[in-house]
Amino acid sequence: MNAAFDVRDIVVRYGRRTAVDGVSLSAAPGTIVALLGPNGAGKSTLLRAVSTAVPPDEGRIEVFGHDVARDPVAARARIGVVFQERTLDPDLSVWRNLWFHARLFGLSRPRARARIDEVLERFGLADRREDTVAQLSGGLARRLEIARALVHRPGLVVLDEPTTGLDPDARRDVWADLRRLRDEHRVSVLYATHYLGEAELADHIAIIHNGVVVRRGSPAELKSGLAASALRLSTEDDASAARQLSSAGFDARVSVEGVSVRCARPESHVAEVVRAVSVAVREVAVVAPSLDDVYFATTEGSST
Ligand code: ADP
Repeated sequence: MNAAFDVRDIVVRYGRRTAVDGVSLSAAPGTIVALLGPNGAGKSTLLRAVSTAVPPDEGRIEVFGHDVARDPVAARARIGVVFQERTLDPDLSVWRNLWFHARLFGLSRPRARARIDEVLERFGLADRREDTVAQLSGGLARRLEIARALVHRPGLVVLDEPTTGLDPDARRDVWADLRRLRDEHRVSVLYATHYLGEAELADHIAIIHNGVVVRRGSPAELKSGLAASALRLSTEDDASAARQLSSAGFDARVSVEGVSVRCARPESHVAEVVRAVSVAVREVAVVAPSLDDVYFATTEGSST
C-alpha cells in the first residue's frame, strides 16, 4: 500500500539559505505525525514542500504514490492544507467559504453542496452556515479551516501550528477533530508545532533542527530511548553538590527541583553519586525522562 506521504532526501533552499537539508520521512495512512522544532528549524518549509507549494531543490516527495514534482495536480487532490495564517474570507459566509474551496478543487455543483453539508454537520457548524466568518470565535474559525481542508476528501491533512492563538478549550477541540479523522476516516495528519505537549499527541514525532531530523519515534520510544534518565537529589546546598558532582565527572545541573544528574541506568549510580557530595543529602529519586528532556537533549548544542 502506498504511504500517505513519502519524503526522500529532500533539500529546500531559499537563495543561499538551506531551510531543509536532507530530510526523509514517511507515514502510513491513518497516522498522525508531528514535526517538532524551534522557530526557523525548517518545519514550515517541509510542510510547504509536501503540500506542493515549494518545489524541493533535491530529493523526491510522493503523496499516496503521486510524485509532487511530476504530478502536482494528482498529489494536491489528496492533500488538505491548513496554513498558519488565517486564509478564510471574513466577510463571506461559512458556506460560501467552503463553496469556493470546493469549486476550486473541481467538485461539481451538486457534489460540492453535498460535501459542504457533510463537513458542516461533522464539525458542528451546520447552524452557523449563513454567518460570516467574522462572527465566529477564533476556535470555530480554525475548525472551519480544518473542515474546509476536508471538503475534497483528502487522505492527508497538513497543518502548520494548528492551535496557535487558540484557548485551551479550542485547542482540545482541534485535537479531538484530528484524532477523529484518523480513527474514523483513516486520514493521515502531518503537523508542525513548537509545543512539546502538542507533539505528544502524535503517533510519530520527528524532531527537526537546522533543517535536519535529529530524532524520531513514537512519544514512548523517544522517551525510553533516551540515555539521559537522571537521579534527582535534594541537598542542603544544591549549588555545592552540583559543583562536587561535576568535578567527580557527572553531568550535574541545578534546577528548581534540586540537582539533576543525568546518566543511563541511574538506579545503579545512587551510592556513587551520594559519595561524591560532601553536603547533606535529604532525598534521592530516579526520574524517567519527559518529552522535554528528549527535546532539549536533542536540540542543545546542535545549533550552527
Ligand atoms: P519553522 O517553520 O521551523 O519556523 P521555516 O521553514 O519557516 O522554519 O524556516 C526555515 C529557515 O528558512 C529559516 O532560516 C527561515 O528564515 C528561512 N525561510 C523561511 N521562509 C523563507 C523565505 N520565503 N525566504 C527566505 N528564507 C526563508
